[in-house]
Amino acid sequence: MIGIKNVGNTCYLNSGVQSLLALDSMKQLILDDEVVKRLESNFKKEPKERTRLVYSFWLLSRDILKGVKPNPNRFISSLWSLYPHLSDYTQQDSVEFVQLLLDSIHEELKIQIEPEASTSDDDQTKIQKIEADETPPVLDEPNKKVDGKPQVSGDPNNLYKQLIPKHDASTKIPKQKYTSPIQEKFGGFLQSELKCNQCGTPSNCVDPFFDISLSMPDENPQEHDENIFKKVYKLLKSVVSSLPLLNLLLCGQTYSLLQLLVLFFSRQPLDEDMNCEACKCKRSGSKKFRVLKVPDVLCFHIKRFSHTRYSFLFNYSFLQKRTNHVTFPSEINVDGTTYKLKSVVNHHGSSLAGGHYTSFVIDKLFGWWLCDDKYTKKVALEDVESSEVYLLFYEKVHE
Ligand SMILES: [Zn+2]
Repeated sequence: MIGIKNVGNTCYLNSGVQSLLALDSMKQLILDDEVVKRLESNFKKEPKERTRLVYSFWLLSRDILKGVKPNPNRFISSLWSLYPHLSDYTQQDSVEFVQLLLDSIHEELKIQIEPEASTSDDDQTKIQKIEADETPPVLDEPNKKVDGKPQVSGDPNNLYKQLIPKHDASTKIPKQKYTSPIQEKFGGFLQSELKCNQCGTPSNCVDPFFDISLSMPDENPQEHDENIFKKVYKLLKSVVSSLPLLNLLLCGQTYSLLQLLVLFFSRQPLDEDMNCEACKCKRSGSKKFRVLKVPDVLCFHIKRFSHTRYSFLFNYSFLQKRTNHVTFPSEINVDGTTYKLKSVVNHHGSSLAGGHYTSFVIDKLFGWWLCDDKYTKKVALEDVESSEVYLLFYEKVHE
């Protein structure tokens, strides 16, 4: 396992690159000679900043995968010239880095699959409305009964299966104009259903995603959060038989990935009023998510940072970090498909500005490794499980 040197607060980038390179889909793409030739030719023809970034990422990654000591300077200078806000040698957000990188690779490698629509020039990344009557069956009440039996069994895998339902032919995903290897492996679709509190009219929209951002429950819950807590409690009660363990799970500082998923997929009130088409005015409403397409790479982002407004004397806002421990399984099952944990990004420290990022990556032969900039070390699964996880990468297991 080869490390990457830190050239001044670039651990956000090193941990992101190492985590991506632990994924089989990414390895195959990086080592594909045809892709390198294409990037090289693009770079020679028209050396755009984005092409330079993607090409230099390829060269860096190929060195790492082939065990050659990498020099990240060219990649970093390309990244900073395309995204100048990342270039001040201060600590950055690893999630933002991963998103920008994946987006750049997608843009660079995308090919057109649908003829240009004459009525709309919407790109695939724009929000597209789907029929309002397509309301899918969702997990409104996780413990509701079907045929007198609880829908949620004692098998946690079943919970993931229900929380992230596999795409079926009846759901409408907007037609894609472009595709890329990144879109094919990392691209999922999330449906959000907004509902007017006054008339109950739903409106659905579908957004593409590369990762799912999971919030932690509010520790000083407002009234609406208490309802979510009750749902989480009910759901967990059906799986966890030990009451002390249940209380520890809910009242302690520890949350499980499953709890955060239940929270994410529960109906929640909207922060701002919505435009209701039936009422023809702004109304308070609620929102509920559903995954329409599960990608091969499932990336979960644990939202540890939130803006807290402090306005005693000044209208001052700062990023507050939640240091709660989050537990996660090394394997999840989504509707009969197994996803294995391949890598994790950790954030250490109390603030985004002053912290440090490391990653844990799995190697088929040698197990888990810690990647801490240029330093790498073999570790035990327990080290991974006890880490302060910020990003989790699960990848579909192909039989
Ligand atoms: Zn309404």
